[in-house]
Amino acid sequence: MCFPLFCFVLLSPSYFALPHRSVKLLHLSFAPWVKMIKGITSYIKTRMSKQAVVNTPQLQILPPSKHPISTHEIHEGALKVLYRLQKGGFQAFLVGGCIRDRLLGKKPKDFDVATNATPEEVIELFRNARMIGRRFRIVHVRFGREVIEVTTFRGQTDEYDEKDDRTLQSDAGMLLRDNVWGSIEEDAIRRDFTINALYYNIADRVVYDYTSGLTDLDNRVLRLIGDPVTRYREDPVRMLRAIRFAAKLGFTLEASTEAPIREQANLLLQVAPARMFDEVLKLFLGGQALDTFNLLLEYGLFAFLFPASHEAFKTNPLALTLLEQAMINTDTRISEGKTVSPAFLYAALLWPGLEQIYTYLQNNGMPPLPAMQQAAYRLLERQNQHITMPKRFSFPMREIWDLQLKLPKRQGKKAWVMLQMPRFRAAYDFLLLREMVGEATDGVAAWWTDFQEASETEQQKMIASLGRKQDKKSGSRRRNPRRRKPASTY
Ligand code: ATP
Ligand code: MG
Repeated sequence: MCFPLFCFVLLSPSYFALPHRSVKLLHLSFAPWVKMIKGITSYIKTRMSKQAVVNTPQLQILPPSKHPISTHEIHEGALKVLYRLQKGGFQAFLVGGCIRDRLLGKKPKDFDVATNATPEEVIELFRNARMIGRRFRIVHVRFGREVIEVTTFRGQTDEYDEKDDRTLQSDAGMLLRDNVWGSIEEDAIRRDFTINALYYNIADRVVYDYTSGLTDLDNRVLRLIGDPVTRYREDPVRMLRAIRFAAKLGFTLEASTEAPIREQANLLLQVAPARMFDEVLKLFLGGQALDTFNLLLEYGLFAFLFPASHEAFKTNPLALTLLEQAMINTDTRISEGKTVSPAFLYAALLWPGLEQIYTYLQNNGMPPLPAMQQAAYRLLERQNQHITMPKRFSFPMREIWDLQLKLPKRQGKKAWVMLQMPRFRAAYDFLLLREMVGEATDGVAAWWTDFQEASETEQQKMIASLGRKQDKKSGSRRRNPRRRKPASTY
């Protein structure tokens, strides 16, 4: 009713007859109207696009007898969410990686739910639920330490705002351009890869496939839904996801999904650096870090994630070997069920670039520790434009780097003090890594390995013999130990 009235005022001759100032004021007071019209246009577009959507996906169904998914292996929290939503009269499906992985005989990492209930309706059903995001609302339902992410079916929208695009994604990373709700068919084609758009319905235990994901799963092919060039432009993180899933699942990238990656790799510069931190962690902590690393290099993506390290590869062959070894170690730890700290991983990924600045500063007369700290500062200033590290990881990472200079100083009580330091283990592992690939570390890591395994008497002997060696080396400086400065060189 208000819309025709607005058109009438806007088009009426009296509007044009108003003096300029009044027109301006009129514009201001019409701002909410303009917003409303935009909303109506978007709604009409969405409705119109439904026709196209209905024609695109071809529904395939996998009955319970043809798949291994059974209720008792679904996370209890996810089951509760599904049942309560369905009891509330809504549709609710498990979707994404959990279905893909289960059909491949793997253990799912997490359980994501898609529903036709709006976020507000979901919130009403669960006491332990929290809305995430303001404009782009999704719901987290918490069960102890586990979080079930519930997303409302997304509708089609062709409004595209490059600037906004950076922040509009769920925690899982799904791009949510607008709170335009839709049907399951529309939701399916908003997802990234066909194998990630499989829906499992707890009620009939059927897997629903609108994008031929089941065929791609059989053929072990990773295929982006829709036009790849557009979909990478919409969300460049999908290029990283393509590499991640190709490495994780050992799938082949379908030709048109693969083709634009090298050319569009620079689009990664448009992604919010804070979002990149999580994405990059996921890349390397999935158990196939080495394969992922090699693919990132092959497709020209690594240079946009860690530019300084990438530059170092050109002049320092050890830099590449170090990162390869770091990836091998990461995979080994994960396969043994051990954790990998993000601080350690990033310490390794950034080390080649750090070393170059550190060497440069030292060559220009700066003492080692200030050079290390200055190098870290300079490197992170540059790196933060690509990937922002939360301080809770960047602080320990810098400690690992600083300790590379302190670990060789083992005389007197220092070795025992060092052993008690919270970051000792990570710093020692890092030194070991460097020694393993042939960086000049004077065998210090091997010494620490022996020291940790030795009895107290043996440890004392090790330190004493170190002192003697040091005395021989340092000569006159040692003659008057009382006048030595306290151990504050670092
Ligand atoms: P895993 O959790 O095993 O790493 P996943 O496929 O579940 O893999 P999530 O990051 O948990 O990945 O995302 C859940 C689902 O959300 C995906 O399967 C996909 O359907 C959708 N999704 C995530 N990120 C995007 C994106 N950037 N663009 C489109 N859809 C996405
Ligand atoms: Mg997931």
